[in-house]
Amino acid sequence: LEEQLRQSQKMESVGRLAGGVAHDFNNMLGVIIGSAELCRHQLPEESPVHKYLEHILKAAQRSSEITRQLLAFSRKEIVSPKPVNLNSQIIDSEKMLCRLIGEDIRLTFRPATPIWTVLIDPSQVDQILMNLSANSRDAMPDGGILNIETANVRLDADYCRHHSGCTPGDYVKLTVSDTGVGMDRETREHIFEPFFTTKGLGMGTGLGLATVYGIVTQNDGQISVYSEPGHGTVFTIYFPRLRGAEADEEDACAAIPSTGS
Ligand code: ADP
Repeated sequence: LEEQLRQSQKMESVGRLAGGVAHDFNNMLGVIIGSAELCRHQLPEESPVHKYLEHILKAAQRSSEITRQLLAFSRKEIVSPKPVNLNSQIIDSEKMLCRLIGEDIRLTFRPATPIWTVLIDPSQVDQILMNLSANSRDAMPDGGILNIETANVRLDADYCRHHSGCTPGDYVKLTVSDTGVGMDRETREHIFEPFFTTKGLGMGTGLGLATVYGIVTQNDGQISVYSEPGHGTVFTIYFPRLRGAEADEEDACAAIPSTGS
């Protein structure tokens, strides 16, 4: 518990510090990206300058991703949880995720149908998907497969005995796995700590998984990782099932088979 408290205090002070800088920084990056794109459009196709503009754009986009992460981390965001069908939420984000991971990585999605409803702020689901996918992308520089899966599961007392903060019951399981470089034990033990990163200077903030961890615990969920060097990585997240009138409505919708067109 003491460790948790220290972690949340660290997260808060960093948040305040970073938030102020990140906002202005992101605006300026917007100017750099916008101007570089304008240049690119106005240059003749065969110009040798294209290559340099690509470098500028890539670096600026990467920086923008990092500042966005800092901003998301620092903002005391007002969350508005609502009944969510995780499958629909994932499908809605698919385009964005594909753009994030690039063309060398194939995104596959195996949904559970029908799927139980969960109570969460939809933008938090996006944040989880974005952070996990960005890490998978970085772990697969030569391409690979990013697989997202959902399932309805029951966690029993036996499972919860070994996982702190776990209450037995029905959960929706979200699995995000990749065929990337994987992690050794030393890395695995620190990944959820703010600022822990193995990526080089300017490449990572070490805030991605700390953010994911924060969101999951805020929603009474569970998160675990399975990873071995050279054998890829599997992140498993459990969200408590939402029951009651609101959930039933959603569940019914999810269960209706689409009539196709
Ligand atoms: P960052 O991406 O900025 O480094 P994160 O908190 O998202 O911060 O990740 C922390 C570290 O966890 C990464 O630097 C990396 O070493 C490791 N990691 C996270 N996801 C993966 C993955 N899918 N495959 C391999 N290593 C990973």
